[in-house]
Amino acid sequence: MFQRLRSDFRLSIITLLGLSGFLGITPFAVLRFHQGDTATGVVDLLILCGVSAGVAYAWWTGDTRRSGLFMAVVACFGAVVVAGLVGDSGLFWLYPSLITSFFLTPPRIAIAINVTAVGLMVAQGDAFSSLEQMGSFVSTVLVVSACAFVFASRNEDQRRRLEHLATIDPLTGVKNRRAMDEELEIAQAHATRTGISCALILLDIDHFKKINDEYGHYVGDAVLVDLVKVLRKNTRKSDQLFRYGGEEFVLLLPGSDGPGLKTVIANLQQLLRNHVKHPGGSITASFGIAELDWGETVGSWLARADDALYQAKESGRDRAVFAEPRIRVVPQLA
Ligand code: GH3
Ligand code: MG
Ligand code: MG
Repeated sequence: MFQRLRSDFRLSIITLLGLSGFLGITPFAVLRFHQGDTATGVVDLLILCGVSAGVAYAWWTGDTRRSGLFMAVVACFGAVVVAGLVGDSGLFWLYPSLITSFFLTPPRIAIAINVTAVGLMVAQGDAFSSLEQMGSFVSTVLVVSACAFVFASRNEDQRRRLEHLATIDPLTGVKNRRAMDEELEIAQAHATRTGISCALILLDIDHFKKINDEYGHYVGDAVLVDLVKVLRKNTRKSDQLFRYGGEEFVLLLPGSDGPGLKTVIANLQQLLRNHVKHPGGSITASFGIAELDWGETVGSWLARADDALYQAKESGRDRAVFAEPRIRVVPQLA
């Protein structure tokens, strides 16, 4: 749970805002019922239900885009209705709602929601005790929205940059090992849920050190970049490529198994020979392939591919070895 909160920024924002909304609104909902103001109490309750449903939906489906939008709409328009019912003391609720909409939805949508909410608030008039108060409200709401917009946009921009730095290999532009660990977990969970096969290819360039030693690191780098171009161009959109480290790459192929995989490998071997060159000729690579076994962990899956790659190297390089399925331990009856 904490892992998900740490890795999914928007989910953590939704959870935090949902929780603070819940804690902030609940006492007022109780107070309204206590005062006999059933209409406002019911509106407060509906807002609480909406906020809770938004958080639950985000956790359940992982769809933080829809749940964020839903929560922003509930918070802003809920505040408008409350202000219509209780008068100017309800105006204050719109401020946190306007700010949070910039953290729950993309800036353009947040602006549309906020402008509509402020427009409705002004149009209903009852919420204001004087024209001057209405003017002050509109001005302060604009200032608050502008600040929230700038802050949320910069925050989002920096988050994207950090994510890019943390997950993308700067030389080749493919995802790095850190990103791979997450994607393998997702692929494993998906395969377990759906029963659709999933294969992993561990690829290691043969005698790469020699290329570096003989022609320099610059040529070695260019070989890595070319290899990635060729692999990206010749794999499906649903396949994912990662730089595992140095001159080792991982290809994740959802929905691939047996005969299909053999064809994929044969094609890749041919493509590397024809298209990834250095001054001394073309490169070859060794492949370790493992299909995910039912109930297998990511660690075991990767280890089997690694063992297969080791065998490919040991038996002469420039070849592919398919990992044996796991040995299943059958419980013995006493
Ligand atoms: P094998 O066939 O057994 O795989 O031999 P190898 O020479 O390919 O493997 P080894 O592990 O001995 O050497 C890998 C080399 O890859 C060593 C390291 O200097 C080089 N390397 C790692 N990362 C980079 C990089 O980003 N750029 C370049 N040019 N070289 C790199
Ligand atoms: Mg190598
Ligand atoms: Mg290596």
